[in-house]
Amino acid sequence: MADRNTLRTSAGAPWPNNQDSLTAGERGPLLLQDYQLIEKLAHQNRERIPERTVHAKGWGAHGKLVITEDISKYTKAKCLQKGVETPMLARFSTVAGEQGAADHERDVRGFALKFYTEDGNWDMVGNNTPVFFVRDPYKFPDFIHTQKRHPKTNMRSPTAMFDFWSLSPEALHQVTILMSDRGLPQSPMHMNGYGSHTYSLWTDAGERYWVKFHYKTQQGHDFFTNDEAEQIIGKTREGYQERLFNAIEDGQYPRWKFQIQVMAETDAETCDFNPFDLTKVWPHDQFPMIDVGYFELNRNPDNYFAEIENAAFSPSNIVPGISFSPDRMLQARVFSYADAHRYRLGTHYETIPVNRPVMEVHNYHKDGTMNVFGGVRTGNENAYYEPNSYGDQGAALEDRSAQEPPLKISGDAARYDHTRYDDYAQVRALVTKVMNEEQRQRLYKNMGGAMAGIPSEIAERWFGHLKQVDPAYEAGVRAAWNDANASAEYQANSHPVTGNTPQQTEGNAAGDRPQAAE
Ligand code: NDP
Repeated sequence: MADRNTLRTSAGAPWPNNQDSLTAGERGPLLLQDYQLIEKLAHQNRERIPERTVHAKGWGAHGKLVITEDISKYTKAKCLQKGVETPMLARFSTVAGEQGAADHERDVRGFALKFYTEDGNWDMVGNNTPVFFVRDPYKFPDFIHTQKRHPKTNMRSPTAMFDFWSLSPEALHQVTILMSDRGLPQSPMHMNGYGSHTYSLWTDAGERYWVKFHYKTQQGHDFFTNDEAEQIIGKTREGYQERLFNAIEDGQYPRWKFQIQVMAETDAETCDFNPFDLTKVWPHDQFPMIDVGYFELNRNPDNYFAEIENAAFSPSNIVPGISFSPDRMLQARVFSYADAHRYRLGTHYETIPVNRPVMEVHNYHKDGTMNVFGGVRTGNENAYYEPNSYGDQGAALEDRSAQEPPLKISGDAARYDHTRYDDYAQVRALVTKVMNEEQRQRLYKNMGGAMAGIPSEIAERWFGHLKQVDPAYEAGVRAAWNDANASAEYQANSHPVTGNTPQQTEGNAAGDRPQAAE
């Protein structure tokens, strides 16, 4: 017979009975000294950690990044050199829903990657869309509030969403993609990923290039309509988890082609749009795709909580050869993502195994929550400060070779008005040139349905923006909005104040057709 493990308390004492509480007499009350019971209940109370404020619902897996092309003229990053394979972790997510939200909701998908490189962890926190709703971080918390629940009704509010968007026309591009087919992929495997932000690559020669990262699905783009998604959600709320987990268990490893667009550093000044504006793409004809390699997901986590919920991605994690750009949304995220993890997981969240770099880490951070590294982290027990005299006795020293070239920036420190940018041209290219008529009709229906019941002054403000994109876009969405408002189901269930219906607010607020209450 195999050796049996002894059940023990967290402190290691053997656990004599895990079935019967300690009571005073067979029919008597519990004794507080049943410390094993107390420990068990106390642990249960602490099983949940703070849910992510955004991107709470997620699915993930391990894999590898393989570089097949030579891009050494752009970067010294070791993990981006031809022939190098790097272990990685991916986490996909929806933005707005809580942890129990249904997977098949219309929403932007998070596409977060962590590469365990020999120079430390490199994270990219992107989406399945190349752009974002806002271009200035001042607007980010307010935008997220519109995606979450109304403070009084505790329901999601299409009125709030369209009020904010109609007052922030830079959101048009992302809202258009959200309401298009790409706003409801069939699974994480059937969507592209984008680093979205502009990053930079740099070389030992001190050259810097601006770069956009693209990950192209090799499984093909597949989407569901709102009606199809409603059917699926009626049967399972975990459709993405099932598809991704089962595919990997069955050895059908999903792959994405890894590509970049590159811009010479000085070309940013003459570019006819702001290349650091997160609401814009870099047109393919001006900045052609460059193949770099691919990544593949080939291992499910053994423990979802430990490896996916505990995973902490932050764009602040860069490695030599890769860096930031003047993209102000990226700069804000460099702060706020790492800060979210310090709050959610603890000060030393990068010592949790899934977040730990492959090499032993030496630094002078001390104490605080999640200090599980023990021993001497600095390399010498007398070196608990820096600079010190113990460099030749193991104390950690800085590495000046990791210094990136200077960022060439000029200009006065001021609050520059970003609203003078053109918010319509790229949306026009998408709607009128990239989409076909069937795709446009679905876009109109999704957007008009999502607007059902919102006040007409907000709707008119939004229509004004659509008209500037293309009069046919405005006319199509207006007709769909009228249909949605007139639908018997909507009339029967809408609320005169909130403009909400019960089904609309519980789940798929950003695009679902209102339904009759049960
Ligand atoms: P292109 O015609 O060269 O590129 C259009 C790109 O749009 C395609 O390559 C594809 O990118 C993407 N696309 C295709 N169908 C859809 C869809 N239904 N919804 C969203 N994206 C779709 O033109 P441009 O590069 O000049 O871009 C024109 C417009 O296309 C942009 O304004 C933008 O809205 C959109 N777009 C552009 C991207 C870019 O990086 N240039 C990326 C994605 C969208 P992919 O290969 O990434 O799937």
